[in-house]
Amino acid sequence: MINKPIKPVVVDTSRSAYARLKPAPVTAVTLTDGFWAARYKLNRETMLLAQYAQLEETGRINNFRRAAGKLDAPFAGLVFNDSDVYKWLEAAAWVLAATPGGALQQKVDALIADIAAAQCHDGYLNTYYALERAGERWSNLRDQHELYCAGHLFQAAVAHYRATGATSLLTVAQRLADLLCATFGPGADHRQGTSGHPEVEMALMELYRATGEARYLKQAEYFLNARGQGLIGGRDYHQDHVPFRQMPRLAGHAVRALYLCSGATDLYAETGEPALGEALARLWGHMTARQMYLTGGLGPRHEGEAFGDDYELPNARAYAETCAGIANVMWAWRMLQLNGDALYADVMEQALYNAVLPGLSLDGMGYFYVNPLQSDGTYHRAPWFVCACCPPNVARTLASLPGYIYSLTEDTVWVHLYAPNDAMLTLPGGREVRLVQRTRYPWDGNVTIDVLSVGEFSLRVRIPAWCQADAAVLLNGEPLSIAAPAGTYVEVRRSWQVGDSLCLRLPMRVRQIEAHPYALENSGRVALMRGPLLYCLEGVDNPDVDLRDVTLPLEEFAIEETFMPTLLGGVSVLRFGAEGVPPDAGWSGRLYRPVQQRPVVRRPLMALAVPYYAWANRAPGPMQVWLRRG
Ligand SMILES: [Zn+2]
Repeated sequence: MINKPIKPVVVDTSRSAYARLKPAPVTAVTLTDGFWAARYKLNRETMLLAQYAQLEETGRINNFRRAAGKLDAPFAGLVFNDSDVYKWLEAAAWVLAATPGGALQQKVDALIADIAAAQCHDGYLNTYYALERAGERWSNLRDQHELYCAGHLFQAAVAHYRATGATSLLTVAQRLADLLCATFGPGADHRQGTSGHPEVEMALMELYRATGEARYLKQAEYFLNARGQGLIGGRDYHQDHVPFRQMPRLAGHAVRALYLCSGATDLYAETGEPALGEALARLWGHMTARQMYLTGGLGPRHEGEAFGDDYELPNARAYAETCAGIANVMWAWRMLQLNGDALYADVMEQALYNAVLPGLSLDGMGYFYVNPLQSDGTYHRAPWFVCACCPPNVARTLASLPGYIYSLTEDTVWVHLYAPNDAMLTLPGGREVRLVQRTRYPWDGNVTIDVLSVGEFSLRVRIPAWCQADAAVLLNGEPLSIAAPAGTYVEVRRSWQVGDSLCLRLPMRVRQIEAHPYALENSGRVALMRGPLLYCLEGVDNPDVDLRDVTLPLEEFAIEETFMPTLLGGVSVLRFGAEGVPPDAGWSGRLYRPVQQRPVVRRPLMALAVPYYAWANRAPGPMQVWLRRG
């Protein structure tokens, strides 16, 4: 066990032969202030400690102590409970890289010792199949999540290694990964099988990148190729209904499907296999054109936590698991690294603000598993779940967020996300570049990037697709005469001097969004977005009207934006004149009637909308994203 923080390792990603962009290491970027820094701090000071208490209270950590022979107690909880511990550990590792020491450090070190002690001599590690169930190993890969839990161990170990340089958990992970390599494979001398819950594929790819051991890449490829052969039942729920490269669209359990796509993208980044690239492009295109909520959330069906039919996007009945939003960010991030196409960054940002963040309460103590776009006021966040995949998944996403802001190519820094930070980046060509980003994003679209390094290199700054056609780029206060089309990266190349600053002006006009007509529930309705944020109405702000009656005018109307520092942790609200259009009296006691023209009762009202991520943080009440129009 290693207690002291060690100089962070700059990970060599140069082996990613077919990925054009190299992610900047998480440890190279420090969030300094503002929107995301506040959430990072909340994670550090509140969420991770509260989650640890839940892991202890629910016996998840005791399961490791039990497997290690330190505790005589029955296995506690669900078969995949190890994964929650690993996800928490991954989050804690990233946070410790930025701020080592303290109670969190002690917990991490003790936990790694418990995990290592629970590992069998041959490298096997899963607390459910310890002791009395040791003889049942690998007996049900479809349902029992052994390979899934292994994957989360690998990801935690890679994070811990990259964050601290320590190999204590990496060694544990490699012993288990080597056992997987020895056990599963295409030859007659190996077992055949793959996991009912994808995860191990991308985790093995990360382990490959961290260690350079090609056998982990081969093993990830085997697990991907073993799908669609009927080895785990042949159902779409487990992504076993068709070989991955032949999938026409995403189907089945949403988180599983998206984790699999993330792993397949990691594999494609290394191999460049055309059929894999074609499948990824096809699945991405179909998903974003027909299956994705305006939030970036995915998987509308409660039944099977699953993708539905095309355009099946119910609001009140939306499932849209927080983990699926996280998985969307993960997949979009990996697609973005392939070629730097800004469309992936747009989806990543959309999902981050509107599908991941709502999963977390503003005080860091409550979580949504399910994310509806309409509520009657009876749905609330919970501090934890029996199946607790989402809370530690949110924690590891927030903890690794600094790593989502920049990517690097030979002599170029790509800027994907806007958040105040201080970054010390090493370009693949060897040049050191220090950047300091200042902005009030997402409340306004002015971003300043101070360059604190000398030399010739490029900054490629992202112009979000929502900007429409009026973005501007300024160098040292002077507008640059370069085109800045929305949905692209604008390259500014020069010989930089310390003190140079590049400014972006990304005007944030409120946008009225409509849905494809086949998304029938939203036909004749609009949603409001400003910058990357989706807005909603809550009953607490609009007490005198049934939200279902709020109707926006067809013609253009004014929307006033105001930043309110004390509301919901500080948010920009939208105020606008609308109308309350209740059902006419003829509807009393009826659900259906012949179509008829009746005078419509219209009552003018002022409506107030808040960012969707912040809903359900005050008095319980209804919420609605899509509003009637006309
Ligand atoms: Zn979840």
